[in-house]
Amino acid sequence: MPELEKRFSTEEACRAYLSQLRWADGFCCPRCGSRKEPWPVRGTYLQCPACAHHASVTAGTIFERTRTPLPIWFRAIWWVVTQKNGASALGLQRVLGLGSYETAWTWLHKIRRAMVRPGRDRLSGHIEVDETYLGGKEEGVHGRETFKKALIVVATQEDGNGIGRIRMRRIPEASAKSLLPFVEDVIEPGSTIHTDGWLGYVGLAARGYAHEVSVLKRSKASASDLLPRVHRVVSLLKRWILGTHHGAVSPDHLDYYLDEFTFRFNRRSSRSRGKLFYRLLQNAMAVGPVAYKDIIKSVRGSGGRNHNP
Ligand SMILES: [Zn+2]
Repeated sequence: MPELEKRFSTEEACRAYLSQLRWADGFCCPRCGSRKEPWPVRGTYLQCPACAHHASVTAGTIFERTRTPLPIWFRAIWWVVTQKNGASALGLQRVLGLGSYETAWTWLHKIRRAMVRPGRDRLSGHIEVDETYLGGKEEGVHGRETFKKALIVVATQEDGNGIGRIRMRRIPEASAKSLLPFVEDVIEPGSTIHTDGWLGYVGLAARGYAHEVSVLKRSKASASDLLPRVHRVVSLLKRWILGTHHGAVSPDHLDYYLDEFTFRFNRRSSRSRGKLFYRLLQNAMAVGPVAYKDIIKSVRGSGGRNHNP
C-alpha cells in the first residue's frame, strides 16, 4: 500500500497509467480515429491534434464522471485485489474511511464489474458441468444465511486430477434452455463435456461437443463422486460466501459475487498482487460506465432475469 500510494499519489499519475492501459498501441482519438500524438490539457484531457477533441481516458469506463479522485479509486482496487478471501463492503468502508456503507457497497459493485473481461476466451479441453442450489437451509449453518435458494450452473476445466479455470452463472431453472446457452457461451465447441444423466444436457452433442455422461451405479456413490471438481468448487464458493460475506448475499446480487469468486479462483496461482491489480485496471478500461441507479436496477432483476425458481 505505501508503494502504491507513492506511485499513484496524484490524479495525473493515475491518468497516465490508465492511458497506457487504454491506448497500449498508442493514442487513438475516440472521435475521429486519428493516431497523431495528442496534447495534454490541464492534466485531465488529451487533445486530438486532428479534430481538437478533448479525450478523457476515463470516458466510457467504470471511472466515467466519478467525483472521487483516482488515487482513492486505485487504493480501493488495490485493497480489493489483496483481500485473499474476498472483499466486503464493510472492510472497504473501514480501510478508506468512507462515510457511508452504501458508497462502499456501490464501489465494490463497480469494481466487480471489471472482474469479467469483455470477450474473454472460453474454456476448452475436458470440462465438468453441473448445477447446484446455493442458499436455503445448509447443514451446520444456523440462521446466518440470509439469501433464499438460487440455482447456479458451474463449469470446471479438468487439469490432471486438479482444476483449471472455472465459469459460473445463475440460471432461472435447470432446463436445456438455460444450460445449453451457458455451455455455448463459456466452452469452446469440440471440447469434451462431462455431466450427469440430466436431460437438460442431451442437446450437447448436436452443438458440437463430445458429451460424456456418468450415472450413479451404486447407491453408495454420491453426485460429488461423479463430478468431483464442480463439487469442490461449489463447496469452496459456499464457504467463501459464508466466511467473507457472512452469508449476507442476496440472490439479487449473486451474479456479481459469482464473478468475483471466479476472478479470484482463476487467478489463485498468481502470486503477484501487482498482476491482479494490473488486470483489474485493464478490465476497468474495457467495461462501460455504470451508474448507481443501474446497479440497483440490474440487481433487482428488471433486466429480464428471473431468479428463485
Ligand atoms: Zn480526433
